[in-house]
Amino acid sequence: MASIIQALPSEVVHLITAGEVIDSFAAVVRELVENSLDAGATRITVYLWPHQWRVRVTDNGRGMDLEDLKIAATAHSTSKISTCADLWKIQSLGFRGEALHSLTTLAELEILSRSSVSSFSSNKQDNGWRIVYGYEGEPTHIEPTAIAPGTVVNVSNLFSNWIVRRQGLPNVVQQMKAVQSSIHQIALCHPHVAWQVWQNDRLWFKLSPATTVGQILAQIIPQVRPTDFQELTLELSPQDSASKTSNAPLHLLVGLPDRCHRHRPDWVRFAVNGRMVKSQELEQTIMRAFYRTLPRDRYPVCFLHLKISPDQIDWNRNPAKTEIYLKDIGYWQEQISGAIEQALRINPGTIKEAVHTTRVSKLLKAAEENGGYKVKNFRQHDENVTQHLLKAKGQINNTYIVAEHPGGVWLVEQHIVHERILYEQLCDSWQLIPVQPAVILYQLSSAQVSQLQHIGLDIEPFGEQLWAVRTIPSMLRDREDCAEAILELSWGGDLRTAQVSVACRTAIRNGTPLDMGEMQALLDQWQRTRNPHTCPHGRPIYLSLQEPALARFFRRSWVIGKSHGI
Ligand code: ADP
Ligand code: MG
Repeated sequence: MASIIQALPSEVVHLITAGEVIDSFAAVVRELVENSLDAGATRITVYLWPHQWRVRVTDNGRGMDLEDLKIAATAHSTSKISTCADLWKIQSLGFRGEALHSLTTLAELEILSRSSVSSFSSNKQDNGWRIVYGYEGEPTHIEPTAIAPGTVVNVSNLFSNWIVRRQGLPNVVQQMKAVQSSIHQIALCHPHVAWQVWQNDRLWFKLSPATTVGQILAQIIPQVRPTDFQELTLELSPQDSASKTSNAPLHLLVGLPDRCHRHRPDWVRFAVNGRMVKSQELEQTIMRAFYRTLPRDRYPVCFLHLKISPDQIDWNRNPAKTEIYLKDIGYWQEQISGAIEQALRINPGTIKEAVHTTRVSKLLKAAEENGGYKVKNFRQHDENVTQHLLKAKGQINNTYIVAEHPGGVWLVEQHIVHERILYEQLCDSWQLIPVQPAVILYQLSSAQVSQLQHIGLDIEPFGEQLWAVRTIPSMLRDREDCAEAILELSWGGDLRTAQVSVACRTAIRNGTPLDMGEMQALLDQWQRTRNPHTCPHGRPIYLSLQEPALARFFRRSWVIGKSHGI
């Protein structure tokens, strides 16, 4: 009887291992683009012809000389690591030396490259080389070619020998969406790169190089501006002194919760050493840091980029290199929560421009239009730094506090700001105190009773359909509506929900006159809160009119004459 167990032919092995990683247009693009980035490219252009199963990636990176080009697509050939020990020092995006080789088994591969290094050496090479590769990655055709330093990779007839894979792929629109999303994510990790992406010989989208991640994200998310973000870079001290790295930069971008949030958690992203990765633990850390700053069912915009010593990471555990395993996760979680908290605070170091740019522009535009004149190019300056100096100046309609600060004028909504202050106080010290006489409630359901017990209240039957509540949240102590407030708490939700509702109930109502001292006290306390942008329901707390905007609005730059006091 013939043996049933057989060694797989090598081409099948190739197909299987390659297929694990390169299973879509997006994966092809990702691999090629990562090679370009590893080659130091600052300009990357991607061409896609999805119906022809064809992709081209060109870059201005350091290119390859003829010798390297000849072996680039053979199995496990890489310039990035050479020993096992190197696996712990991976700084590049690629390292397995598999991508190009896999492509030769899944598609037709051709590379044109000219080394930027060799043109300076003694055997000066003014031309590049074009190589067509065979099924095993061996060169089948070599010829000189005239190109600029850099590399052009042509992949055609993708998955032609694997029709099942082609059939298993989603439709072209979805595949292209995946490509776009993949490029967006890579671009965020490498903001200095200029991108162009063409589809069917038409420019599809491009991204201009930027100095901040926010400038990239503002090109990606519609209706969002760089000023809607707060970015900060922290140098973290190493968690164990044995670690050879002296510091680990953490770059953080957060969407200010009063200016941008999403209906899906699609922009809670996390990258390590230039690569977008997944880490459920860290994503949860981010979500927790934004707790009670956003409207219901909205998600933050947050991009976190860690540069950490490669010996803290085990890339090799996942072939797609997308899941990250960090040593000492608790340390990172703590650092990240602290960084987000810092970014969300109001202080001169972190708030550059405190303008809800879009909405203020609209407000001022509307005012202008009513006034019957127009200003061209209304734009905010972002150079002036808000000082940490808010001075109460007055109250409007018993609702808004007018605050002066060196950068302009702020309107602060008194109820909402107080709600934020009280909520944070409650979270920090949720105190239940005994009350005499007890608060008597009528006709509670058993669910309501157990809800009150659940959040810690001392409650017991007090006769027919009556209950006595003997401890209450301290903030409700002197309130006439105490019974009502407790009833509200009995309707469900966790402790946090209870704290939000107590804060809302006890916060100063709109319509209440305040004196200057009270307003100043509110402003001072507010500036010390952890999440000053929004109330615990996610409503914005303040509107700021920045001096440059006001100066523009009032045409202070016009030279009219000295007598006008300009
Ligand atoms: P890896 O990226 O894991 O090293 P690849 O198969 O993707 O493996 O690439 C093999 C080698 O080819 C790389 O190590 C690099 O030296 C070279 N290479 C690939 N693409 C480029 C490029 N765009 N520019 C310069 N060199 C490249
Ligand atoms: Mg690679």
